[in-house]
Amino acid sequence: MTMEKTFSILKPDATRRNLTGAINALIEKSGLKIIAQKRIHMSKAQAETFYGVHSERAFFNDLVEFMISGPVVVQVLEGENAVVAYRDIMGATNPENAEVGTIRKEFAESIEANSVHGSDSLENATIEMAYFFSGTELVG
Ligand code: ADP
Ligand code: MG
Repeated sequence: MTMEKTFSILKPDATRRNLTGAINALIEKSGLKIIAQKRIHMSKAQAETFYGVHSERAFFNDLVEFMISGPVVVQVLEGENAVVAYRDIMGATNPENAEVGTIRKEFAESIEANSVHGSDSLENATIEMAYFFSGTELVG
């Protein structure tokens, strides 16, 4: 077991329905600690860069429009094996396939509006958190 940091976003469908506290409660119940958090409204350029890996996918333009359709909450989470631990409590990308008790099963509206983002690797977590936070904003 190793202490890790991962990067999280509470997406516009979550802020629109006032679910940020409910989702944070599940994050904290899992043992992950929110060591940085801020509410922002992403620019189109920011969203396009953040999801650049998906730029060739059919859903890319819709995804970018969705991510800038309202405010989001960007977060850094810390804990044992945080990258995989957060992916586990997020649940599957498509909420229809997500397990009971996961964030996406409880809250997601659709495969696109699925309430949360979580980094898929330690390497990407480091890149993603540096995109939104400076080191001095992480308070463990
Ligand atoms: P995850 O967020 O589980 O890591 P991906 O990295 O594959 O999933 O996709 C990034 C985001 O793009 C998803 O969280 C979701 O918002 C959106 N997305 C993924 N697949 C689809 C799809 N088939 N149709 C619409 N939106 C999608
Ligand atoms: Mg992903």
